[in-house]
Amino acid sequence: MNSNRREFLLKSARTAGLVFLGGLIWSAYVDEVTASKLILRPPGALNEKDFLSTCIKCGLCVEACPFYTLKLAKPGDNKPLGTPFFTPREVPCYMCTDIPCVPVCPTDALDEKLVSTNGELDINIAQMGVAVIDSQSCIAFWGIQCDACYRACPILGQAITIEYEKNDRTGKHSFMKPVVHADACTGCGLCERACVTEKAAIFVLPREVALGRAGDYYVKGWDKEDQKRVKNAKEIKTTTELSKDTAIDSLNDMKGLLDD
Ligand code: SF4
Ligand code: SF4
Ligand code: SF4
Repeated sequence: MNSNRREFLLKSARTAGLVFLGGLIWSAYVDEVTASKLILRPPGALNEKDFLSTCIKCGLCVEACPFYTLKLAKPGDNKPLGTPFFTPREVPCYMCTDIPCVPVCPTDALDEKLVSTNGELDINIAQMGVAVIDSQSCIAFWGIQCDACYRACPILGQAITIEYEKNDRTGKHSFMKPVVHADACTGCGLCERACVTEKAAIFVLPREVALGRAGDYYVKGWDKEDQKRVKNAKEIKTTTELSKDTAIDSLNDMKGLLDD
């Protein structure tokens, strides 16, 4: 091969390499910015923003998991590249009592404090996500007996309970409907894995996605603890003269419209 031709091929290979590398970097960038919010992290993970700035993508948590639950995100997973996550329908978190994936984390992106009670590791307080039920596709809501998710739940009788309700359609059977209790659910996904429907009728979502927030304005009048929040509340006085109209008056404004 003459030297000109060799040089040409070498240059072409270098250019192709750079284009390929550029493509990888671009794909990583696109993955980062379009990453799904529906990502489930290992137990003890910091909130997503802090987690992303703390996890160094070393994979030690993934290595420590004996059930191969955790994976590191790769291009095309639609998740921040190299960060650990799990997919419960494939492999849930088996809630190991010694939580081996957490203490190995060198940066505390998985924080032992978030899964400890009185200084002892406690997987039962993990908040990986929360299970949500699609009552349209859960066959127990149709009246067919199924308690697969209830039986699979490691926090049996607390994270999922069964509610009995008369089935008026048959008149002699009961619905046995599963109900998830977000305060006890760890988001392990054993219920999602066990669900008998073709696409799971119970599935785990990150807590920020699945749960609402009532805000500080509402106080549970029947809850003594909650009432303490307004113990020192001051009456709000306004200097603006308030309208003398009642709510009914605003309806009367529509009278002409309704008459037509
Ligand atoms: S608690 Fe156990 S099963 Fe769950 S992610 Fe950690 S090591 Fe894996
Ligand atoms: S061990 Fe910690 S830093 Fe390493 S990948 Fe897991 S979460 Fe990230
Ligand atoms: S995710 Fe499902 S199995 Fe796990 S604690 Fe919550 S309800 Fe129970």
